[in-house]
Amino acid sequence: MAEFTLELNDDQKQVRDWLNGFAKDVIRPAAAEWDEREETPWPVIQEAAKVGIYSLDFYAQQFFDPTGLGIPMALEELFWGDAGIALSIVGTGLAAVGVLANGTEEQIGTWIPQMYGDVDDVKVAAFCSSEPDAGSDVGAMRTRAVYDEAKDEWVLNGTKTWATNGGIAGVHVVVAVVDQELGSKGHASFIVPPQTPGLSQGQKFKKHGIRASHTAEVVLEDARVPGHCLLGGKEKLDERLARAHERAKAGGERVKNAAMATFEASRPAVGAMAVGTARAAYEVALDYATTRSQFGRPIIDNQGIAFQLADMRTQIDAARLLVWRASWMAATGKPFTSAEGSMSKLYASETAKKVTAQAIQILGGNGFTREYPVERMHRDAAIYTIFEGTSEIQRLVIARTLSGMPIR
Ligand SMILES: Cc1cc2nc3c(=O)[nH]c(=O)nc-3n(C[C@H](O)[C@H](O)[C@H](O)COP(=O)(O)OP(=O)(O)OC[C@H]3O[C@@H](n4cnc5c(N)ncnc54)[C@H](O)[C@@H]3O)c2cc1C
Repeated sequence: MAEFTLELNDDQKQVRDWLNGFAKDVIRPAAAEWDEREETPWPVIQEAAKVGIYSLDFYAQQFFDPTGLGIPMALEELFWGDAGIALSIVGTGLAAVGVLANGTEEQIGTWIPQMYGDVDDVKVAAFCSSEPDAGSDVGAMRTRAVYDEAKDEWVLNGTKTWATNGGIAGVHVVVAVVDQELGSKGHASFIVPPQTPGLSQGQKFKKHGIRASHTAEVVLEDARVPGHCLLGGKEKLDERLARAHERAKAGGERVKNAAMATFEASRPAVGAMAVGTARAAYEVALDYATTRSQFGRPIIDNQGIAFQLADMRTQIDAARLLVWRASWMAATGKPFTSAEGSMSKLYASETAKKVTAQAIQILGGNGFTREYPVERMHRDAAIYTIFEGTSEIQRLVIARTLSGMPIR
């Protein structure tokens, strides 16, 4: 088992520097344009595919890094480049993780490569769980999947919302209710293959930030998928549902929810994205504060500015430490007894929002314009306290874990 260390090994440093170079030379110069266009930056994804950053191999290598630091290090660098473009590059990973977490080996081998496509014909994938009336409250999900035994097909109906890459993806991973009585334990995940009749894109959202990342509704109207598209397979699902019914009959004994453990392991990834955006804004602010003069001296000569920068950097470093701790815990199988994954996401996302706002203030009028990148970074940072569980939900999870009480 890997010891926790703050020293990246030589291989990790090499990957970090390579990603930093891509972020600086390819992502950053394109950031303002794609933010304005509010479109998926296909040429940048293609470029990332060419050099091997947009690929299953690259993510698998980082994902299985025994120290756990591969993914947070990679995400920090890409999001340091630009959050919207970086999300377009890594959004497919969210769907891939959905298959990795629940799929059989055969499903993993069949579908994940299709999610990325080829270098000459790149594809993206989407993970569709949220619904108009089921955001934080996943148990309120309404999208249904009904098994048609005669045809060995599942029939999906419902409306998903906020899906990153929704509608423009080849492969969609859709979470649906298969047993209404069981609440969130009656959900299952399905692959919806490319060009499945009955799946269509609903409205595409015009957003406040991460505008280079496509976010849309996904509508399912009698979308039929083959039986083998149920992630994990029918036998495993039937066993799981039977166990859940037995437990419910026996008085609803609380069981450790596997989905919660998965979230604890995945939330630090969003924390790492937030650290990348915060670090980018801090660096712009530090540079500006040392070069901009007022009253005959650089503005950083004022404690009011210098102390803000000191706090910003301290909070960014603290956020990274929480993210790395939780990522190491996930990789080494340590139990999240204090919801350390949620802690890291909560602190890093709130830090990104605060630090990017301070950066605007330090740049004065320039910070408020699109001539400088901190205004975009501040808009982008607002997403981190919302997706993959809002800050309020992180606090609920942490408080419940610490107290064992059903805090509402
Ligand atoms: C840009 C973007 C991309 C996204 N990508 C995806 C994706 O790819 N796939 C996907 O499935 N989803 C995705 N989401 C959805 C995202 O995960 C949800 O927006 C998020 O879970 C919050 O749900 P909601 O928007 O319905 O807010 P709500 O749940 O309606 O929350 C509204 C407010 O109420 C608060 N609140 C709710 N319940 C409680 C409570 N019990 N206690 C205290 N406060 C509470 C929340 O914290 C929030 O402040 C994305 C969202 C966005 C904006």
